[in-house]
Amino acid sequence: MATIESAATVGIPTTIGSPGSPRQGITVHYVGASQVPHGAHTQCRSQVRGWHSYHLGLGWAGLGYHYVVCPHGIVLTGRGLNRIGSHSPGVNATRIGVLFMVGGNQQPPANMLRAFLELRTWLAARGVNSSSITGHQAHIATSCPGTPLMSRVRSGDWGTGGTSNPSPEGDFPLLGLKEGDGIPTPSEGVKAVQRLIVAAGFGSELEPFGVDGQWGAGTSAGLLAARRYVGSNLTSVKSMTGESYAQLIRACARREAERAANRIEVPECTCFGDGGGLPATATISGTVHLKP
Ligand SMILES: [Zn+2]
Ligand SMILES: [Zn+2]
Repeated sequence: MATIESAATVGIPTTIGSPGSPRQGITVHYVGASQVPHGAHTQCRSQVRGWHSYHLGLGWAGLGYHYVVCPHGIVLTGRGLNRIGSHSPGVNATRIGVLFMVGGNQQPPANMLRAFLELRTWLAARGVNSSSITGHQAHIATSCPGTPLMSRVRSGDWGTGGTSNPSPEGDFPLLGLKEGDGIPTPSEGVKAVQRLIVAAGFGSELEPFGVDGQWGAGTSAGLLAARRYVGSNLTSVKSMTGESYAQLIRACARREAERAANRIEVPECTCFGDGGGLPATATISGTVHLKP
């Protein structure tokens, strides 16, 4: 089941619009003519907050959709199940409005389709007639929900879902990162990879730039060195695959064990016995011989 984030998590009020019980079907929408940038999931939340503010600015109650599905396969709650919507005149009180975070001719990614299918099942379990799915244009003259979604409304083919992830920093901050990421805008995910490379003992590979959040040749070299350190025969690696991640973590653990083995254990001082302590001053007499 897709994660359904509460309105509070999204950062919008939990009481937008009037109480209601839209259960007769689902109407799908898109954002409009321009493509929606798909970044990290925190950006999805801020986009939804932005649309809420935009609608407030028009003098409306706020975001009109009941739910929003994002490219990470997450459902963001808008008005929620028990409110009248403001997504299409005539059906606001009867149909759940679902906004897909796509615009123009942007195809909904597999994760978004899967989230919609799961949302549909979830809604059906709560009394919504999930066999009635319409596009916005069934109710009013509009381009919404755009050609790609409208063809799915007509065919009823919402795909079988998948795991494609448009944002490596969305679901898991490291998997999918690759050489070139974080350039020119440094990425927190790349920084994490670089810190792990340092922890694995290969920080010198990152020089002269160090941990800068920009994945260049040095980061690739550091990752390769870490992987070879735990047995990989690779001669080149430029991305954070699952195997890269596993071997990098193993390299950190092995390095830590090595450090522990080499650590000089200093025994507890027992020379003064219980209740003893160092004297306030100590005098050294005679000749002190220092080893060369
Ligand atoms: Zn619409
Ligand atoms: Zn998202």
